[in-house]
Amino acid sequence: MRAELADWDTAPNLLDGAMNLELTAEDCGIRSWLAAVPQGTLRGRLDGHDPALTVPAHMRAPGPLRDALAREYAFRSVAEDKAARALAYLVAAAPTVATMEFYATQVLDEARHAMVFRNHVLALGFDEITALVADDVAAVLDPLAEFSVPVMREDFIGGVVTIAIILEGALAPTAELAERKWRPLDPAAAEIDRGAGIDEIRHLTVGAAIAKRHLEAHPEDRDRVASLIRDGMRLWTTLPVHEVVHRREVLFQQGLERHADLVGDYEVWPGRCLVDTTPEERQAMAEEWSREMRESRLAYIGLAEAAS
Ligand code: FE
Ligand code: FE
Repeated sequence: MRAELADWDTAPNLLDGAMNLELTAEDCGIRSWLAAVPQGTLRGRLDGHDPALTVPAHMRAPGPLRDALAREYAFRSVAEDKAARALAYLVAAAPTVATMEFYATQVLDEARHAMVFRNHVLALGFDEITALVADDVAAVLDPLAEFSVPVMREDFIGGVVTIAIILEGALAPTAELAERKWRPLDPAAAEIDRGAGIDEIRHLTVGAAIAKRHLEAHPEDRDRVASLIRDGMRLWTTLPVHEVVHRREVLFQQGLERHADLVGDYEVWPGRCLVDTTPEERQAMAEEWSREMRESRLAYIGLAEAAS
């Protein structure tokens, strides 16, 4: 893997990287991961952020801003934990050395994401994370795991597609929004998201490349994989994801209004000041990115027809 793709200062943002780069498992084995991640992205950032960035007092004070970040990061920590465990099945079933090595690195990446999100919630002043989001986990993550884990355990290529297209592809744009919206309020949190986003570019592009190559070599699997994707997307539509994210965005909005002075004229995306945005607008943008991400990934693996 080219060093600049994982370098803190030169790596592309998550959406650009995941939609425009092509990386294969052969590009992202253990040796290249050691150079790119422990000795690259993570150099000096073992907690996911520059240690000089401590949590500011306005983030530790009880209130909607702290609650918004705590709920968001606790939820994502649990999601990362579940992903790390399920991905271990892909290590076990990987058909080649390259795919085994790649999934071994992804297991470690996700376990590390679970750690940095969890530790940041603790740094905000909470004792633990599970009680904060037990309801959201039961409503969203448990049903996703019930769908995904058996697939990942029993069907390698189905599992590759499940994690890269159905789970990470749908969740990644929320991470991009998080990095942008927390930047002026909690720079350490924004760095945690930036680092996780750099890793996510690898997960999404390599997962898609493995699926693309497999489906080219085994066209007889196309129908099965396409129907798996449709089932996964149908499941999303039955889950209260919009409501869960909306509750967090409303808390964020209350905090944003209280701390507008800290945010100033910071732009959340080009031409749009964060302080002028609404929960609905931010959420609609993330949902639009999600749709674009899924469509670009599906087109790349040659299953555009599964998008509808
Ligand atoms: Fe992750
Ligand atoms: Fe990931």
